[in-house]
Amino acid sequence: MTDAIRESELPAEPGALRKRKILIVEDEFVNREILIAMLVSEYEMIPAESGAEAEKILSRQCAELSLVLLDLNLPDRHGLDILRGMKADPCTAKIPVIILTSDKEAEVECLNLGAIDFIPKPYPIQKVVQARVRRTIELSEDRDLIRNTERDHLTGLYTQEYFYRYAAQYDTFNPDVPTDALVLDINRFQMVNERFGKQYADGVLARIGQAIAAALGAGGGIACRRSADVFLVYCPHLTDWRAFLDGIVDAACGADRGRIRIRLGVCSETDKSLEMQTRFDRAKYAADTVRGSFKDCIAFYDKTLHEKEVFDERLLDGFRAAIDGKQFKVYFQPKYDIRPEKPVLCGAEALVRWIHPELGFISPGVFIPLFENNGLIGTLDRYVWREAVRQVGEWKKQYGRCVPVSVNVSRIDMLEPDLVDTLKELVKGCGLEYGDLHLEITESAYTEDAKQIVSTVNSMRDTGFVIEMDDFGSGYSSLNMISTLPIDVLKLDMMIIRNAFRENGNVKILKVIFEIAETLEVPMIAEGVETEEQMKALRDMGCEMVQGYYFAPPLPAEGFEKHIGDWLSETKPHA
Ligand code: C2E
Ligand code: MG
Ligand code: MG
Repeated sequence: MTDAIRESELPAEPGALRKRKILIVEDEFVNREILIAMLVSEYEMIPAESGAEAEKILSRQCAELSLVLLDLNLPDRHGLDILRGMKADPCTAKIPVIILTSDKEAEVECLNLGAIDFIPKPYPIQKVVQARVRRTIELSEDRDLIRNTERDHLTGLYTQEYFYRYAAQYDTFNPDVPTDALVLDINRFQMVNERFGKQYADGVLARIGQAIAAALGAGGGIACRRSADVFLVYCPHLTDWRAFLDGIVDAACGADRGRIRIRLGVCSETDKSLEMQTRFDRAKYAADTVRGSFKDCIAFYDKTLHEKEVFDERLLDGFRAAIDGKQFKVYFQPKYDIRPEKPVLCGAEALVRWIHPELGFISPGVFIPLFENNGLIGTLDRYVWREAVRQVGEWKKQYGRCVPVSVNVSRIDMLEPDLVDTLKELVKGCGLEYGDLHLEITESAYTEDAKQIVSTVNSMRDTGFVIEMDDFGSGYSSLNMISTLPIDVLKLDMMIIRNAFRENGNVKILKVIFEIAETLEVPMIAEGVETEEQMKALRDMGCEMVQGYYFAPPLPAEGFEKHIGDWLSETKPHA
């Protein structure tokens, strides 16, 4: 017998539907031919007269089959073994199976193994057979359709929309079960994509999905993939989240454990009067508090976090009015060239402060990370750049000399396509040269999306802006990488200075860093210098510039003018 197709009509017109294919596994010639005759007008019938032949067709054509009609008594196999094999193989597990049998006893076992229906022998009339076959195929296709819309194709977990629906349903059926809302987020997933490739990264996501589903198996609960690398889990209250997270990381990452770090935000014993989404927003809020942290990777949404969230909301609500009402003030902190015996002013960093009408003075350490997370940073930064450049332009007109000013450029600003044009317009509009504006880009920005950032920085630098790498030493860039990055100045992270100069601190590390800067032929600014002793030690190590409280804190424009005045009088040519 061949596995030739009996009825292989091609569609009459292009685009017309092909007939659905049915595999009929039946060794008895007459039985097989009767069934084929009953169904061939509607379906493409593929006959197999032995178990071996059926398995061959299943392995070659599983994706095309709409149904299998399976006899239990085959010469070389028992039909149940074929059924068992089909259900165990993910490629064939979803093909519906109707059993052809005269043995009533076998029905329960067949149903337990995943068969959908039976056609008894001798066969009923044609209409009945056709109706059973049609209904089984329809049901299976409906189920697949539902599955495809409900599930994320990569992980097999629910999509967000269905997840929220089923989570609410879970509450309806289990009103008294305390539940947890969990958010799992992969740290710096963009880096995993970039370093190891999309295929590898997709594999990680798929394995995490499977590991979550397996972890929930015993205790119950549901999960979804909310966006690229964010997973949500709604489950009966857990007590050992560490074990839960470790289990998932072990199962999903195995030997690659070191490459993947997942942070877990927990909204424990959720308040069921809250919207489902709010519970997960809270868990996400908690997860974001340990973003990038190497120590803690589990965070709980508690009273303190709730208060912080309410405070953050207040800041976010007040943002627009603050921009319109000029509540943001740009301060200037001087940078000094320390190579001469008497240090000389060589620039300033523009640093924003918020003078809030009700909350008073708010430091950027409080609101910058918030605005970075909420997409408002672009508006604020443009405001600060404009103010800073306008002020320096005015000083240039007033004093006839220019104090180069550096502004902070957020990682998110770097994604704006018109960034370079905006900066060019600002500078030219205030009568400055491109070189009078320095751009501070944090080291971590370079490591997050290296290709895109490097190409933007290159175009800024080609225009003539001076590029300073901010917080150097706090990120993760390798020396190899730094030597290829477009940078004009390295700004040493304040923590490195602080650690080096504290009691029992290690000043040697500073020496090594300055040697690196020398090798790269890039000048170094040390930030956060607070004493004369620190300034002198840094000078001895070859540090060119210093910014810090030793010279001055960030000052309002009027306060900074004193530094300009001193500079002009000291560097004035002698008569
Ligand atoms: P940064 O750019 O590294 O700025 C240096 C920070 O160190 C400033 O904190 C400054 O006040 C502080 N500092 C300077 N000298 C000393 C010192 O001797 N001792 C101590 N303890 N601190 C010193 P600030 O102004 O609170 O700013 C914090 C961070 O907020 C900045 O770090 C920057 O990342 C961000 N930031 C500030 N203004 C802006 C802005 O306009 N846009 C953006 N995107 N970020 C900004
Ligand atoms: Mg800075
Ligand atoms: Mg800095």
